[in-house]
Amino acid sequence: MKHEPTRLWGVSLLSAWLAIGCVLLAGSGSAYARDTAMLNALQLQQLVDDAHAKFKDVKEGKNANYIPILDTIPSELFGVAIALPDGTIFTAGDVDYRFAIESTSKPFTAALVMQQYGGPAAVAEKIGVEPTGLPFNSKLAVEVLEARSVNPLVNAGAMASVSMVKASSEDERWKMVLDNLSDFAGDKLPLMEEVYNSEYTTSFGNRGIANNLYNYERLYADPEEVLRVYTKQCSVGVTTKDLAIMGATLANGGVNPKTGKRLIDQKHVPELLAIMLTAGFYDGSGYWSMTAGLPSKTGVGGGIVSVVPGKMAIAAFSPRLDEHGNSVRAQRAIRYIAGELGVGIFGPNAD
Ligand code: GLN
Repeated sequence: MKHEPTRLWGVSLLSAWLAIGCVLLAGSGSAYARDTAMLNALQLQQLVDDAHAKFKDVKEGKNANYIPILDTIPSELFGVAIALPDGTIFTAGDVDYRFAIESTSKPFTAALVMQQYGGPAAVAEKIGVEPTGLPFNSKLAVEVLEARSVNPLVNAGAMASVSMVKASSEDERWKMVLDNLSDFAGDKLPLMEEVYNSEYTTSFGNRGIANNLYNYERLYADPEEVLRVYTKQCSVGVTTKDLAIMGATLANGGVNPKTGKRLIDQKHVPELLAIMLTAGFYDGSGYWSMTAGLPSKTGVGGGIVSVVPGKMAIAAFSPRLDEHGNSVRAQRAIRYIAGELGVGIFGPNAD
């Protein structure tokens, strides 16, 4: 029988993480962090195994079907991973299966824009940083909210982000977006051509949003070019492990633990995480913040990545989605792990 971790066990792990934090603050460097991580390795491995076992039989939700190819992905796939800021990774299930990154890409392109414009002020001014309280693909939000694009994590704002990338051609824009996602993953990520074709040929809603934003002067490049690059961005293939490392790069203050490359200034990581907390789950962000307490981003491919600042990233993937377009099993797994470890940013949840 599998060992069921108890709250007490979670609290003792929390103390260990707090100890890591204190030692790092005291300037003792990453060697100690690695040693302490080793001490907890068995427990962290057990925790991802338990999360996978506990939720693998959940059948709630449905694959996304408005992008035809996503409806054909086997619904039973399920991967769970924790990555530490030093790149150590603990995994369970289908963590090497490559799926479409979709909207989990959005905070990373927002990070690129923040870097290119010297901080989040340009994002706040040219896109917006408020939650919409509306679905990710809302056309109504563009009409009723004066910021139009509203925040970089909904489709409108994500297309605005792509339009802000400082590029002189479509090829260069795409290369910058793809290279940036690959840099966050610490690996060369591929474009999944079939996903791109399936999504681009059915992108009538997003095309409408792009044109409307352009009309409102809230899209900063040609709308069809932006739509193509945005759709390619969403069609990049990642594994659950890749997502965990992308999150660990944010947990690590903006430096990829595998490559040592800095991708966003440390001082801007909290600003990006704040947007992820308030808008990463779209109109499900309030409930997620209340029950998991972690800045996160979801995608209709079934991926979710959550960041515990300074401590770890938790990523999970499974294709069936709830009514907001967020993976049901991935939410359960991440919420369970965060709860057991007591790492919600507002303090351990009381259940
Ligand atoms: N590419 C998808 C779209 O534009 C992304 C949506 C999502 O993952 N929530 O609809």
